[in-house]
Amino acid sequence: MTELQRDYSFQWTGEAVECSSGLHWAIAEQANGIVAIIVNSPGGILTGKQVRVLAEIVGEDGVIKNTRRMTSLLLIPKEKVTAALDQLQAVGLRVANLHKSVRNITACPGKGFSPNSRGDTLELARVLDEAFYGTILPWDFKIGISGCPRNCTGVQCHDLGLMAEPRGKYSLWLGGTESGMSPEHGTLVRKGIPREQVIPVVKCILETYIAGAEEYKGELSERTRLYHVIEKTGLERFKKAIEEFMSNTTLSK
Ligand code: SF4
Repeated sequence: MTELQRDYSFQWTGEAVECSSGLHWAIAEQANGIVAIIVNSPGGILTGKQVRVLAEIVGEDGVIKNTRRMTSLLLIPKEKVTAALDQLQAVGLRVANLHKSVRNITACPGKGFSPNSRGDTLELARVLDEAFYGTILPWDFKIGISGCPRNCTGVQCHDLGLMAEPRGKYSLWLGGTESGMSPEHGTLVRKGIPREQVIPVVKCILETYIAGAEEYKGELSERTRLYHVIEKTGLERFKKAIEEFMSNTTLSK
């Protein structure tokens, strides 16, 4: 199985962002010459201190746009980018991955906030981000987490969706895409995944995705999402990988 590789490094040259691994970071000059920086914030969570720094970066009359993926998009002049990156780092914020990696993880408020919630969502988004931020992938990989079947995050619209079940377990959907010309819902592939197994199961899925993209490289585009790989390999390969991992974990207990 393909081992996951990660890359946190990029350089802002003063004109553009460069990254030797080919991972695309969310810093891009817009049509009007202003540079957009997307700030990574799993579940859309920012502290008051972080919000204050974002406001300082854009200035009194500057603009911060909230995005569909629960991130803050800062719009600033090019000459402010270097200082802005230092300011973000000083308060523990990172630039979001744009392509060839895991996108900002979306999550509903979940346990502790929503009375309907069956389980944690925001802390799970944070630990998944810690585990997979900067992972080098064939193309974008979107993860969404909902705290109950009301499904405010729309887990079926992500490459990988997790929905909390009672007693600390999660259901898993794979292969959705919410955008593009042919949006598709993902498929429910597993129920009852214990919280402590979510990260290794996601790792297993990412490894299977990378291996499938490599296997069908000649037939797939450079922008190979999970659903493209599933069309080639079938969902069974992913289900089998998950079951093998989970049965090995159970046996080793
Ligand atoms: S999905 Fe459920 S837990 Fe999450 S915000 Fe919606 S109603 Fe609340």
